[in-house]
Amino acid sequence: MSVLLIHSDRFAEHQPPPGHPERPERAEVFDVVADRWRQRGVEIVAPRTATREQLARVHDAAYLQMIAETNGRSERLDPDTYTSPESYEVALLAAGAAVDAVERVMSGAHRGAVALVRPPGHHAERSRAMGFCLYNNVAVAAAHARMLGARSVAIVDFDVHHGNGTQHIFDADPHVLYVSTHQFPYYPGTGAAGEIGHGAGRGFTVNLPLEAGAVAEDFRDVFDGVILPVLRQFEPDLLLVSAGFDAHEDDPLGGLRLTAQAFGAMTMALRRVAEECCRGRIVAVTEGGYDLHALAASLDATIGALHGPAGELQWPASGIASGRGADSVAQASAALRAYWRL
Ligand SMILES: [Zn+2]
Repeated sequence: MSVLLIHSDRFAEHQPPPGHPERPERAEVFDVVADRWRQRGVEIVAPRTATREQLARVHDAAYLQMIAETNGRSERLDPDTYTSPESYEVALLAAGAAVDAVERVMSGAHRGAVALVRPPGHHAERSRAMGFCLYNNVAVAAAHARMLGARSVAIVDFDVHHGNGTQHIFDADPHVLYVSTHQFPYYPGTGAAGEIGHGAGRGFTVNLPLEAGAVAEDFRDVFDGVILPVLRQFEPDLLLVSAGFDAHEDDPLGGLRLTAQAFGAMTMALRRVAEECCRGRIVAVTEGGYDLHALAASLDATIGALHGPAGELQWPASGIASGRGADSVAQASAALRAYWRL
């Protein structure tokens, strides 16, 4: 079955100030990538806007009101996060695209979907814009899947930054598993291996911090050592991916050293576990990725891993023995041993 892409040329209309890394040209990459896959016969659909009800499952009412009041205005929401006059509408489309992808996949119309969106979402807290993010798109998607009847949802976030917002929104919820690989220590400062959730949600937050310089072999170690075993034991009804591409070696913000092929391998590993656990239901929602060529190549590899029959899982070899993955596996295993067989 073919993958579905959710795409709109309106994502270029969100315009932070000149020089901002989360720039409109990123949306032009989405346009080119969508065109390329359209020519290969992949279905592309335009998103609807997210509703206030859908957003209110993960954001406070006062926060939603504050963001709505930026409609038509250029505002600075935090030191990194800005609106332009169209940002409110574009952000509603980004969250709506994630919701639409979930609906298509949960209904069985498609097995896999990729929402090509900006602004990104995983830093957005329940009541705070942060780190280029207005609405937490993937959190809105997870909450929507739960409303549609998913008993449990797993979110795997391979953006180079820790998804503080997503973690905090679900950290007391045992029905939504949050798993993150990220450079650490690094922005936003959260994501230590000892952060494992609160209350009934203890054990359902899984952090794999990686020191700067980590390579594909390190990601393979954390996938094989922690991420895949936890996903198999959790048995989600839907697998969501916070697909940031700023862990690419050419990214100007991140200090990790992945290649486009590594993003393809991670996505293939996740697709295969989705086929074991949840009838292949997998939805990727874009997050960061600030080198335009790396973004295009990594997106192609990700979409390619979800398109057509599942291929071989082939991790690229950097040839660098860094040990950073083994350190991360040891820390996460120590923190989570009481909750998962690792
Ligand atoms: Zn990022």
